[in-house]
Amino acid sequence: MYAPIVPDPSAPPVRINLYSDTQTLPTQAMRAAMLDAEVGDEQSGMDPTVNALCDRVATLFGKEAAMFLPSGTMCNEIAILTLCRPGDEVLAHETAHIITAEGGAPGALAGVRVRGLPGPRGMFSPAALREAITAPSRYAAPQTLLVAEQTANLGGGTIWPLEILCEIASIAHEAGMATHMDGARLMNAVVASGVSARDFAVPFDTVWLDFTKGLGAPLGAVLAGSTATIDRAWHWKQRIGGSLRQAGICAAGCLYALDHHVERLTEDHANAKRLAAGLSQIGGLIVEVPETNLVFAEVAANGKTPEAWAASLRAQGILISVMGRSRLRLCTHLGVSVQEIDDTIAAFAAIN
Ligand SMILES: *Cc1c(COP(=O)(O)O)cnc(C)c1O
Repeated sequence: MYAPIVPDPSAPPVRINLYSDTQTLPTQAMRAAMLDAEVGDEQSGMDPTVNALCDRVATLFGKEAAMFLPSGTMCNEIAILTLCRPGDEVLAHETAHIITAEGGAPGALAGVRVRGLPGPRGMFSPAALREAITAPSRYAAPQTLLVAEQTANLGGGTIWPLEILCEIASIAHEAGMATHMDGARLMNAVVASGVSARDFAVPFDTVWLDFTKGLGAPLGAVLAGSTATIDRAWHWKQRIGGSLRQAGICAAGCLYALDHHVERLTEDHANAKRLAAGLSQIGGLIVEVPETNLVFAEVAANGKTPEAWAASLRAQGILISVMGRSRLRLCTHLGVSVQEIDDTIAAFAAIN
């Protein structure tokens, strides 16, 4: 999963890139906004564009404070470092990004263990959470943090219903745990469900948004929480080298994305549905119905391997990703048009 893309000199250039929404390129208009940004020394609190972005995201989430960071991974890890102590246990879905895609950082950096909870489509039930909560004792690892991913990436870009989020957060709080939302694709959940970012964020002590996924900025994520939590988080930002200088250049791209690239996520969702409908007609694939911009297809046990599908598409100039041993993932984003969705369906049909 997430293997580096090794350039193949014999393959044609990539003309349709469905590998990930991380492959989005900043538009000319976004670049122009970045060029004109007012900047200052971020770590001294003197970058007006970073400050404006942090205020904007704090307001969006109904939190007191926010901090700008280079990546979503750093948001997750700083939240864990801030809210947990070494030896603690964090509870998250077993497919969570903090378990599957952060290089073991919760253990390596924060000294915590993450317990993966089971459940379909990247989500666990309140009952499964109750089951996983251990009675406090001198023997058990203190359970101090619950993490939920909105949308759930490996779950299929699925959206946690608001009622379930409220329920798991209140179970966690009653058990004395803090709550953290990995909001890498939170705005996809917002536009698809009609629930506000603020409503999704309320049950969580910390929440962050990635600007480098479907929002299309080249760099940046913002972590929000109470003033006290963000003050403590600043210590970790400084310690791990996440304090920045004239970062307003990047924050300007993020502000541009909030203004221009949120509503349009509905186009990506429509494209994902169109793609899934087309692919469901192709033999050898079991396609999951997408809720947002991620389309997953399970390859039939007796058919082609996911690598073989991906290679045949790559030979036609189409880049997709292989997830685990049996799944393909195709991700729609602002760099993919309706025509390219139809071309991709045709390319799959040509392989078959
Ligand atoms: C991409 C992603 C992250 C990490 O964000 P980066 O900006 O790539 O570091 C964390 N969680 C989820 C669910 C993601 O999809």
